[in-house]
Amino acid sequence: MINFENVTKIYQNGTLALTNINLKINKGDFTFFIGQSGSGKSTLIKLILREEEATEGIVSVNGFNVSTMLRKEIPFFRRSIGVVFQDFRLLPGKTVYENVAFAMQVVEALPKEIRRRVPTVLGLVGLSNKAKAYPNQLSGGEQQRVALARALVNNPVLLVADEPTGNLDPETSWGIMNLLAEVNQMGTTVVVATHEKNIVDTMKKRVIALSKGEIIRDQEKGQYEDED
Ligand code: ADP
Ligand code: ADP
Repeated sequence: MINFENVTKIYQNGTLALTNINLKINKGDFTFFIGQSGSGKSTLIKLILREEEATEGIVSVNGFNVSTMLRKEIPFFRRSIGVVFQDFRLLPGKTVYENVAFAMQVVEALPKEIRRRVPTVLGLVGLSNKAKAYPNQLSGGEQQRVALARALVNNPVLLVADEPTGNLDPETSWGIMNLLAEVNQMGTTVVVATHEKNIVDTMKKRVIALSKGEIIRDQEKGQYEDED
């Protein structure tokens, strides 16, 4: 699903963000990217989404060679990926239902399909009763569940989340992580960048630890900190 070969990222201003990253994530996996602030987690995610381009090396995602992809191919590529951010990024002027439906309208889904699918995903994230609410009428956890519904509504093969619980209290964070695990159970590949030690330690998923732009640990059923 995701393959990095000798990938280095140097930003315009000369900052070396990632050095010689080699990484393979299989279809159906659940993977955490961990590491201190500035270690390169977001850059890794931006390269996966082609929000940034690798300076050197090859990035491929879901059969697309992301490094050589033409600009006009990017929207089609991104349709196969759901994305969730720390700050939710909902449209404030649209209701919960409309926020989720909008993601389907953008990809020109049929109205009939939208009417069928939106209630289904709102049910999946437990927000059927909030369909008519606006984002500012929701708690943080509810807003993140809307963002998750929006990310899932087009049936992505890959779900990418950058610090999805960074703005949430511990209990609410668990709700979101459990939903991500459920989505993974249903077959979606999930990648999550996080600082949440408790969650990482409890979930026992693959852990890829970054430090100063390098992978320092890659562990199946990993922990937040090295065991020795
Ligand atoms: P993390 O997500 O782990 O906090 P980032 O990937 O955001 O790490 O950052 C990795 C390094 O790249 C840091 O040194 C950061 O300051 C730098 N960086 C991130 N984005 C940019 C940018 N747009 N321009 C220049 N440097 C950046
Ligand atoms: P939390 O305990 O996560 O901080 P809140 O106290 O913000 O949650 O919200 C509790 C419940 O009240 C939520 O279900 C939320 O949707 C609802 N709510 C909060 N603010 C409003 C509002 N301005 N209008 C309607 N419902 C609201």
